[in-house]
Amino acid sequence: MNRDATFLWAALLAACAQHPDAAAPAAPTTVGLDLAGIDPTVRPGDDFFAYANGGWLKSHDIPPDRSSFSRFSVVTELTSKRTADLIAVATKDAAPGSDGRKIGDYYASFLDEAGIEARGLAPLRPALDRIAAIDDARALASALGGGLRADVDVLNAANYNTTNLFGLWIAQDLSDPSRYAAFLLQGGLAMPDRDYYLDDSPRMAEIRDKYRAHIAAMLGLAGLSGGADKAARIFELERKIAQAHVPRIDTEDVQKGNNHWTRAELATRAPGLDWPAFLAAAALDRQPGFVVWQPSALIGLAALVASQPLETWKDYLTYHAIARHANVLPKAFDDESFAFFAKVLFGTERQRDRWKRAIDATNNALGEAVGRLYVARYFPPAEKARAEQMVANELAAFGRRIDALTWMAPATKAKAKAKLAALKVGVGYPDKWRDYTGLEIVRGDAYGNAERAALFELQRNLAKLGKPVDRGEWVMNPQLVDAVNLPAMNALNFPAAILQPPFFDPARPVVMDYGAAGSVIGHEISHSFDNQGAQFDATGRLANWWTPEDLAHFQASGAQLVKQYDSYHPFPDLAVNGELTLGENIADVAGLAAAYDAYRLSLGGQEAPVVQGLTGDQQFFLSFTQGWCAKTREQAIRVQLKTDGHAPAEYRGDTVRNLDPWYAAFAVAPGQRLYLAPGERVHVW
Ligand SMILES: [Zn+2]
Repeated sequence: MNRDATFLWAALLAACAQHPDAAAPAAPTTVGLDLAGIDPTVRPGDDFFAYANGGWLKSHDIPPDRSSFSRFSVVTELTSKRTADLIAVATKDAAPGSDGRKIGDYYASFLDEAGIEARGLAPLRPALDRIAAIDDARALASALGGGLRADVDVLNAANYNTTNLFGLWIAQDLSDPSRYAAFLLQGGLAMPDRDYYLDDSPRMAEIRDKYRAHIAAMLGLAGLSGGADKAARIFELERKIAQAHVPRIDTEDVQKGNNHWTRAELATRAPGLDWPAFLAAAALDRQPGFVVWQPSALIGLAALVASQPLETWKDYLTYHAIARHANVLPKAFDDESFAFFAKVLFGTERQRDRWKRAIDATNNALGEAVGRLYVARYFPPAEKARAEQMVANELAAFGRRIDALTWMAPATKAKAKAKLAALKVGVGYPDKWRDYTGLEIVRGDAYGNAERAALFELQRNLAKLGKPVDRGEWVMNPQLVDAVNLPAMNALNFPAAILQPPFFDPARPVVMDYGAAGSVIGHEISHSFDNQGAQFDATGRLANWWTPEDLAHFQASGAQLVKQYDSYHPFPDLAVNGELTLGENIADVAGLAAAYDAYRLSLGGQEAPVVQGLTGDQQFFLSFTQGWCAKTREQAIRVQLKTDGHAPAEYRGDTVRNLDPWYAAFAVAPGQRLYLAPGERVHVW
């Protein structure tokens, strides 16, 4: 089993256009640890998350425009504000065609609500007319192919969802690291997971009723007649699509996903869709082969194209064309989209400020151009050097941990060390910036800009096919508060924005940074050696480099961790899925252990000085768990438990219970709720 390798669930939410992810801008003011955030009435050994964060949780509410609020949110918000200020200054008087002008025009167009209102549905009209003109199966296949975008990511950002019938991912071939492959994924659903269509609990049934009403409302707003009947048929088609989908846990299994099909096999093995027409419209008609990630779903979806009425498909495409860029259509569309996708699904009460959404949209379209401005202002070379030193210490610590493993055979150790040595670590920003020359941005055309940016991203990806793999490419923007492991490229990205206070702060003792940013670095390194990462060798090839005995031991440790997380019940009717979250939990445990060793290593055998009345070890563990301080709405946690590889923040903060030094640091004793007997503590690496 495997799962995504990004660090944060919150970042995944931010990537979702309707999902709020910002709060009142406020620079973190505490230097050191937030002592007021501690709840001294809780015993650390009973509930370390509540001990470290109880004070903060009592004094903070979730803002109405968010589905969660955390220390990461505060930093994300500050970064958005800084980005907005940078855009205002850097794009003034920018030359036509320059990146600065494109950024400024994209941002201003998104903000221009009066202009968007005045244009009404005109920007969407050509797309609706094209759908109306579909008159046979071949034209339908062309429309579906023409809608294909590079909008999913199997391993890195773990973005498995697209409302297009299929998603495309261009990435390093898992069987041949020297070349790029074209991956096709199941798509076509607007709700987060197949369970939202198929689960027969009353809660899900109620969400389905609201989704049908939402579809009808969107069609009505577009002036289309028969909305309720059409909505019922559109929903029914999506329900059939959901039945064909494979469950999330299978999608996350690289062994199940790495299926190479020739172009001709698409038509013979997945009949129903006019594949030549589909591929020609997607500019993929000369691609010799594809990686079909969920074969049964691809077969099922292709069959539905033939078996379901053409009119239903046209209604379905019409609804999704309206819904896709609702945030740059008149306010009534935007509000209706928010009411379902943010309010019903995530429990968010109020739409975020337009400027914050404009920043997200601009980051999405022109991320590295904006990132270039951001790092020039906010990521000085000294901080890059300091982070690189921390990375070096953690790599050394991880290597020592491999050397010290008593259960691992020398042959496996040598392979693990080779993989560690080959890891390409990116700190702050990419060595080479992305080129936006071919992207046309028109001031005053927010809708067209969004369409062109998505098409540009598709073309940028298609252009990689047939070229050598670039391991220096980044998949995250430098101004994103997150981090990521790229398993097939054996590479890591640590964006500049996560390397800032309170996680990384030159004004405080370094041990606190090891607990926060350092544990993130350890987490991402460890992903290369989690249950998914361990299936890739030093070159990024999906290849077994383990002896059978070592693999069995490794898997037994994983099983122990699955059991630990299965025992967490956020709600009486819903538990954490230990299997779904295993990769993240391995990365949390191993990453925290590596960060701990690296902090000790960095002090060259000296004890860290007592600061704020806390020993070095206390500073380290508190800094870690304070980083996980978060409040999340129930609906959002429920979505997370169903769809996300990351366990809720509270349980990630309790990772400490697997590390021996935590017990001594906080006098944790048998009988306390988080206490684990030494044999129950999971040490994967
Ligand atoms: Zn992760």
